[in-house]
Amino acid sequence: MATPHFLERVNDNLFVALRGAFAPDLDAPAVETIDAQPLVYSWRDLDRGTAMLANLLDSLELPANARIAVQTEKSVEALMLYLAVLRAGFVYLPLNSAYQAGEIEYFIGDAEPSVVVCSTKNFGWVSKIAFLAGTRQVFTLNDDRSGTLLDRAAFHDDRHAPAKKRADDLAAILYTSGTTGRSKGAMLSHGNLLSSAVVLKDYWGWQDGDVLIHALPIFHVHGLFVAIHGALLNGSKMLWFSKFDAKAVLAQFSRASLFMGVPTHYVRLLGEPGLEREACSAMRLFISGSAPLLPETFKEFRDRTGHTIVERYGMSETLMLTSNPYHARDGERRGGTVGFALPGVRVRVVPGAGGPIPAGEPGNLEVKGPNVFSGYWRMPDKTREEFTDDGWFRTGDVGSLDAQGRLTIVGRSKDLIISGGFNVYPAEIEGFLNESEGVLESAVIGAPHPDFGEAVVAIVVPRTGATLQPDALIADLKARIANYKVPKRLFLADNLPRNAMGKVQKNLLREQHRGLFAR
Ligand code: AMP
Repeated sequence: MATPHFLERVNDNLFVALRGAFAPDLDAPAVETIDAQPLVYSWRDLDRGTAMLANLLDSLELPANARIAVQTEKSVEALMLYLAVLRAGFVYLPLNSAYQAGEIEYFIGDAEPSVVVCSTKNFGWVSKIAFLAGTRQVFTLNDDRSGTLLDRAAFHDDRHAPAKKRADDLAAILYTSGTTGRSKGAMLSHGNLLSSAVVLKDYWGWQDGDVLIHALPIFHVHGLFVAIHGALLNGSKMLWFSKFDAKAVLAQFSRASLFMGVPTHYVRLLGEPGLEREACSAMRLFISGSAPLLPETFKEFRDRTGHTIVERYGMSETLMLTSNPYHARDGERRGGTVGFALPGVRVRVVPGAGGPIPAGEPGNLEVKGPNVFSGYWRMPDKTREEFTDDGWFRTGDVGSLDAQGRLTIVGRSKDLIISGGFNVYPAEIEGFLNESEGVLESAVIGAPHPDFGEAVVAIVVPRTGATLQPDALIADLKARIANYKVPKRLFLADNLPRNAMGKVQKNLLREQHRGLFAR
């Protein structure tokens, strides 16, 4: 007997909300590729493509909450795969396309995905790691629409009823990291993702006719969630770049209304002589996040284009937390600050052990809200440590709130380096360096860099009698870890500065190397 209608529970699957917001004309363009073979995907294409992929996933008879780990180049088909994983009710696990064997081995071992999708060129080593870790299926997907994933999906029906999900069911795991120990998988639910997307749609005034330039990677919270959910939830077309290129992006400003970038993108855009008012006259909104936007960049962009960048602040564990206002009624956009707590989000500044501190004084940032993740994958102790007894998440960032509630980030309590918008964890690079022959110990820090925000710098102490070549150490690292983590400069030293407790005084090293990349 069919379930009576009134007993059916509401389906909180994020895909259902996104699908419900597709443009009413399903044949209208949803995604247009710009820097690859020029193709236009309609809303119907997205619906059919995700249905076929979801049916393929269903046919594999995977366990509930199976993780689908994806390390591919950016493509519209990779976007469809993400949506298909939501649609079928499994858990999406994106991996940075730059990760090498040592990193992939850790993520696959930790997350135990049932399915892994990788580029054909990496199939040999990725599949070996995956099968050893118990993965059932390894598919390939390339940025030219080839690969076994699409070959197999082609046999499946192009209609699919989305899996029933509750708001607190797991939708995605984003691997982040700590300065000590290995990466942690932040568990995000359908409800976390939808609540953040709904708030941003309203706060940033998404409107009919908006067109988004999407030039961010799609393995990170910014490009995967903030940008994609924003466009889909508004039924807005995306102009899709496989990578950011300042000149090519600038050329599309006349056809778009929104751009989301990391500070490095804005620095690069300012390097283009064509960036002036006329070129940006069709644009409505420029958003920056993932790393601090220098006040000089904020000001120069306004002087050149007449647009005031909206800087926002968030993280993998919490999605978006604060934003400078879009509407003038909510206040002015102020450079060097990350604005106000978003509706429904609470932000407090604590001196360490808890309790309120005076407005304007910096302290540890703690946050609460429907957007905040439930915990780290299979790390209950770490999860307990990072949440207070009354349920606030300790962000690890240090900042101050003014009397109006405007937040300024002043630093990170841990030593995270953000280079070109990517997080680099010194402890990880130090680990690789310390394993190298002839290395006694090392310290990795970030030095201010005009283009990348921060650049990775390493200080290495050789073992007695060993002769080390900085260039050879760098070349060795390049073969082992993603390029953005490899130190831009490496210095040899007789010893590292330490405090009385034996801890390396990285603040002294940072000070020493502060002017290294000054223009
Ligand atoms: P991720 O989890 O990769 O998004 O990195 C999150 C971290 O990036 C935060 O904890 C902050 O330290 C930093 N971050 C993100 N947005 C901003 C911003 N607008 N200003 C300063 N730091 C930021």
